Amino acid sequence: MKTRVRYAPSPTGLQHIGGVRTALFNYFFAKASGGEFFLRIEDTDQSRYDDRAVEDIYETLAWLGIELDEGPREGGEFGPYVQSQRVELYKTHSQKLVNDDKAYACFCSSEDLERMREQQTADGGASTGYDRRCRDLDPNVAAGRIASGEKHVIRFKGALLGETMVNDILLGEVAWPNKNINPDPVILKSDGFPTYHLAHVVDDHFMQTSHVLRGQEWLPSAPLHVQIFEAFAWQAPIYCHLSMIMGSDGHKLSKRHGSTSAQDFRLAGYLPEAIINYITLLGWSFDGERELFEKQDLEKLFTLEKLSKSPASFDYQKLDWFNAHYLRSLDHERLCHLIVPEMQKAGLFAGNLTEHAILLSQALPIARDRLHKLSDAPIVLGFLFAEPDLSKPELIVPKKQNTADVCAILEKAQTAFVGFLDRSDEQNEAHFHQLAQDWGLKLGQLLMPLRLVLTGTSASPPLMPSIRLLGLEKTTRRLAKAIQTLKDLVK
Ligand code: GLU
Repeated sequence: MKTRVRYAPSPTGLQHIGGVRTALFNYFFAKASGGEFFLRIEDTDQSRYDDRAVEDIYETLAWLGIELDEGPREGGEFGPYVQSQRVELYKTHSQKLVNDDKAYACFCSSEDLERMREQQTADGGASTGYDRRCRDLDPNVAAGRIASGEKHVIRFKGALLGETMVNDILLGEVAWPNKNINPDPVILKSDGFPTYHLAHVVDDHFMQTSHVLRGQEWLPSAPLHVQIFEAFAWQAPIYCHLSMIMGSDGHKLSKRHGSTSAQDFRLAGYLPEAIINYITLLGWSFDGERELFEKQDLEKLFTLEKLSKSPASFDYQKLDWFNAHYLRSLDHERLCHLIVPEMQKAGLFAGNLTEHAILLSQALPIARDRLHKLSDAPIVLGFLFAEPDLSKPELIVPKKQNTADVCAILEKAQTAFVGFLDRSDEQNEAHFHQLAQDWGLKLGQLLMPLRLVLTGTSASPPLMPSIRLLGLEKTTRRLAKAIQTLKDLVK
């Protein structure tokens, strides 16, 4: 059997990192087993539909470099599939189930259902769901009510007794007592749109989906899906319910823990390489040792056997580590290219873009070790393109030093730059070392205030080459300004 897998997001919000993992696992599984990967937009819940969410799905896949084996194609004959464009197919199939006595029309109004729920919970019990009151209506009577235009939904006739077996490649055989399954869920709503349960079963059949890799939150619905496949006398795909992704506190990953959408990470300057590598390790491992995997590696190495059943824990620091790794290994040109928009966003590249880009390219070799994300670039390199704020003493005086001392140190330091450009960076290091000694200072007491004044950050690249790039004119001007600010305060 050919591997055919799908990513089937519902466009109701931004792509969550859990969805990204599902997409990646399906994609890598397809590639590694010589199969096909397609996209299906599950947009049958029109009340929660959001156009921007659809755009975000495509943007996220493009950003990650995930290509679809089906579509987009001219004429739209093949995928990506969009469920709202296939409504007739679902209607026909819900009718087929009604004809075969596997589904029935239900005329209960939302008020009826609300009353039912109130009664069920009146004595403090939990709601047990729909009480199946329309299940035994005479089909002819029901057909008459439908013909007269009465509002109705179609419900699936779930099995009442026994249990349903879900065969999960990761979790093994899971047996569900049928009495625990959501009783007779709606498969076709009164607006004629199918629910997810019906639509995805019909689609997975006609799209010849071989495996369904999806989040474990779908496991409780899986027995129902198995029953629907059986009702059509179709073979169900092989299921694989992926472990949950938790935050560091053991609760399901959510905004409380930090960024959770692919867009958040993209805008924060993470590289797709880092996201792909790190996210794939959430619930999958190769040999328990190796951690670094590029997309091309995973396209060959990914196997379902190495999936883990235990919940995965999302570690933001670990992601930063991967990101820093991939930033370091990017070639110079591509890194420059990716940083330019970050500098533009931060308003640092106004004016002559070519000049700025040349300076950026010169500065990158000394700065790249300081970058954990692309969005760090404006902080680390901003000083070359704009003067730091030198009007605030708290931005000039290091925490452990006092204002008067720093003022005196900076004044002395003004004399330290004679001959600077004639010396190598190492010679300049030695020179400042010597000066600190002569002035009875620790090296940090001299260099930290200088670093803050000249670069505006303690995260700057090494100071000597930074000063060389900044130039002596700007260096002198910044020093003078900072001294003035401190003098005004000490007076
Ligand atoms: N549309 C469902 C979701 O948003 C897909 C579940 C499945 O893959 O079957 O997660």
